[in-house]
Amino acid sequence: MSTEAKNVLILGTGPAGLTAAVYAARANLEPLVYQGPEPGGQLTTTTDVENFPGFSEGIMGPDLMEEMRKQAERFGSEIKTGWATKVDLSSRPFTVSFEGGEEVKANTLLIATGATAKTLGLEREKEMMGFGLSTCATCDGAFFRDQEIVVIGGGDSACEEATFLTKFGKRVRLILRRDAFRASKIMEERVHKNEKIEVIYNQNLVDILGDRKSGVTGAVLEHSDTGEKTEIECAAIFYGIGHHPNTELFKGVLEMDENGYLITRPDSTQTNVEGVFACGDVKDHVFRQAITAAGSGCMAAIEAERYLAEQE
Ligand code: NDP
Repeated sequence: MSTEAKNVLILGTGPAGLTAAVYAARANLEPLVYQGPEPGGQLTTTTDVENFPGFSEGIMGPDLMEEMRKQAERFGSEIKTGWATKVDLSSRPFTVSFEGGEEVKANTLLIATGATAKTLGLEREKEMMGFGLSTCATCDGAFFRDQEIVVIGGGDSACEEATFLTKFGKRVRLILRRDAFRASKIMEERVHKNEKIEVIYNQNLVDILGDRKSGVTGAVLEHSDTGEKTEIECAAIFYGIGHHPNTELFKGVLEMDENGYLITRPDSTQTNVEGVFACGDVKDHVFRQAITAAGSGCMAAIEAERYLAEQE
C-alpha cells in the first residue's frame, strides 16, 4: 500500500458517493471526494423526495444532498471539484487524472459517477437545448409560466416532471410512445387526476420547431403505428425518458454490461479490478433510488475498508 496515495478516492457526490464518504470518513480513512458537473447528483434536479426514510413530511432533493454533504465533511471527507479524464488501474496505487492536469493516486477507488438523462438524438436537439428544450423540469420549469409545455416519456420521471410542471404551465401534454405507462400506478394516477395534464398515447417526437431567438415554438409528432405526422404548438419540451450511466471513463478498463452499467460481484460493490468498487446508479439499472444508491455507497466504503485492512 502506498502511503503517499489516498486511502480512498471517491468519484461522485450523489447519495452513493456521499454515503460512501460518510462511512469511509468515520472509519478514519480520510476520503478524497471529487464532484463532477452535477454536484449532489440527480436529486439536485428533483423537488420533493417522499420516499427517503427518516423524513415523514418529505424533503427537497437539493436539501437532502446538502445535508449529506455536510455530514460527509463533518467526519473529515475532503470534497473537491474536478472532471476525471483518465484512469490507470493497471498498477497500484491507482492513478486518476483530472482536467487541468492534476493526478491523484489512490489505494482504493470508489466509483459513484451516477447516470445522466437520456436524449432522443434529434437533429435540432443540441441547438435547442436550453432554449425551450430541457431534461430538468425543476431547473427550467419556472421559465414557462402560463405557457404550453410538452413532456416526453411514460415512466416515473416523466410523470413526476409533468406533475411538477403544472405549477407553471397553462397545460402540460405528456407524450407516450406506447399506449401504456411504464410508471408506477401511484404516479400514473396522479397524472390522470391532474386536470392540467393531457396524456397523448402512441406518438413519437420527431422534430423540434423554433430557433434560438424565439425558443421552442412547437413539436412535430409521428404516430407510432400509422407514421402520420402532426404539429403541436408549445413553448417548452422536457425529456423524461430515462438515463444512461456515466462510465465512458472506464470503457475497456472495467467490465460493464451492454448498456454501459458497471458490473459488480453479486451482493458486493467489487468490480473486476480488486480495490475498485462501484456504487449507486452507475451499477444499478434496476432500482435507481436514492436509498438504494446510499445503501450501496455504504457497502462500497465498508468493502474498501476491509480491502485496505487485508492489504496491510
Ligand atoms: P424509465 O426507464 O422507467 O422510463 C422511461 C420512459 O421513457 C418510458 O416510458 C419509455 O417508454 C420512455 N422512452 C424511452 N426512450 C424513449 C424514446 N426514444 N422516445 C419516447 N419515449 C421513450 O425511466 P425513469 O427515468 O422514468 O425511471 C427510472 C427509475 O427511477 C425507475 O425505477 C423509476 O421508478 C425511478 N424513479 C422514481 C421516482 C420516484 O419514485 N419519485 C421518480 C423518478 C424515477 P416505454 O415505456 O415505451 O419504454
